Amino acid sequence: MVSRVIPVDNFDLVIFGGTGDLARRKILPGLFRRFLAGQMPADSRVIGAARSDLDDDGYRALIKDAIAEFGGPEKEDAEKLSAFLAQLAYVQIDAMGEGGWGALAKLMRKDVVRAFYFSVGPSLFGALAERLHKHKIADRNSRIVVEKPFGRDLASAQALNETLASHFKETQIYRIDHYLGKETVQNLMAVRFGNVLFEPLWNNHYVDHIEITVAETVGVGGRGAYYDKSGAMRDMVQNHLMQLLCLIAMEPPSRYGPDEVRDEKLKVIRALDPIDAHHIVRGQYDAKGEEPSYREDVDNAKSFTESFIALKCGISNWRWAGVPFYLRTGKKMKSRVSSIDVVFKDLGHTIFEGDHSRHRNILSIRLQPNEGMDLQVTIKEPGPGGMRLIDVPLDMTFADALGDDAEDSADAYERLIMDVIRGNQTLFMRGDEVEAAWAWTDPLIEGWEARNDVPKTYEQGSAGPEDAMALMHRDGRKWREIKG
Ligand code: NAD
Repeated sequence: MVSRVIPVDNFDLVIFGGTGDLARRKILPGLFRRFLAGQMPADSRVIGAARSDLDDDGYRALIKDAIAEFGGPEKEDAEKLSAFLAQLAYVQIDAMGEGGWGALAKLMRKDVVRAFYFSVGPSLFGALAERLHKHKIADRNSRIVVEKPFGRDLASAQALNETLASHFKETQIYRIDHYLGKETVQNLMAVRFGNVLFEPLWNNHYVDHIEITVAETVGVGGRGAYYDKSGAMRDMVQNHLMQLLCLIAMEPPSRYGPDEVRDEKLKVIRALDPIDAHHIVRGQYDAKGEEPSYREDVDNAKSFTESFIALKCGISNWRWAGVPFYLRTGKKMKSRVSSIDVVFKDLGHTIFEGDHSRHRNILSIRLQPNEGMDLQVTIKEPGPGGMRLIDVPLDMTFADALGDDAEDSADAYERLIMDVIRGNQTLFMRGDEVEAAWAWTDPLIEGWEARNDVPKTYEQGSAGPEDAMALMHRDGRKWREIKG
């Protein structure tokens, strides 16, 4: 298959925090891949802006090292890498002071798309927005990209939205959730709304339940201090899992446009039921051999913060009433897996003698590893011996089905950055969506804080605490296995 990469308009992309971890690990290596794919126009520029005392060449050296460390096999192309690095520039800037802003203003060109990536902590968002205006660097068409965490509760998210709104229109604000940039996530919409097969079955008449799992094998790493103030609910459920839930559950938008899609997602969040305490299981990983426990990792022997959470929730609308959605996410789990499983109902009656098992169709959507989908179907076991039924997956691993096109496809960050340059907000969160998600999350967190709920410990390398299994067993169901 032939890749179809459409170049974007010329741009000046300023990355505030351009020397930071996210810029070095994801943003710049991703931009290099877009450059190699021919999507980044030769006249475009990426301008790093941060506190470090560097000049253009110093910044290029830093990014060259970052690409050597975090880039893929493409980093071996020295000639192309030099051409890409030549499109980088650097400005030393202080977000909280006036240093560097004049120099940045002089660098910016007219008649190109101006985009500003706020790859810094949220406490700097207001200062950056204000100075971009004061120094007349942002124009009416400029876009800003803001990173998670977008607040830590409803009040702080509202305050952040207000700060940004005092300088930028909503159509200029791109709140990034990199899960939405994943190929499979967009494919979820293509599968649902581009086929006649699934949509008629996508409701409480045919769906038994839906599982969303985001399991990581890593612990809190060097982010212990931050993570311990956040936990799995704020760090993963409120944003990533909530976004996946919305895309699975939303009504078909009237067209694939930014507000049409986001209006439908918002309706899902607003229709989420409050959750009873006994439908929430929180956990903390225990020590194992040399491996420290969660509490040791965050250096807080009394921490009540969860490194794992499982929830059962419901959506009160015509389509989903009565269908449980089971969500779970955690650190130090068995495998690194992100998946959504749509488990369809039993047939109700079998015509096959001796077949007492529960054969079910299951549509599994894998975000990682091996992005793809499979549909479990029931067939006859091959060979003689009568009609015995078995379940097999109809597998569509994108790398197999799409060959080179799948390999060439952009990873989440680079795809989303190109969407910013194109001015397409479909895969970014709108302010009201983020606030609605916090409005649902806040009472749950307040509830377990008021109860002094102590997270259950779980073994590292497991599927989470026993109570998480019980959450489904009580309903006569079982989590899908976490397979790497
Ligand atoms: P980092 O600490 O590695 O880098 C911070 C950057 O901000 C540095 O370039 C630093 O020079 C710059 N900076 C700090 N104070 C400044 C100031 N006063 N003026 C100008 N520049 C200043 O942080 P990071 O990990 O790159 O994260 C950046 C943002 O992205 C954070 O909001 C973080 O929560 C979010 N994020 C990071 C990741 C990740 O994988 N690192 C993932 C998701 C979200």
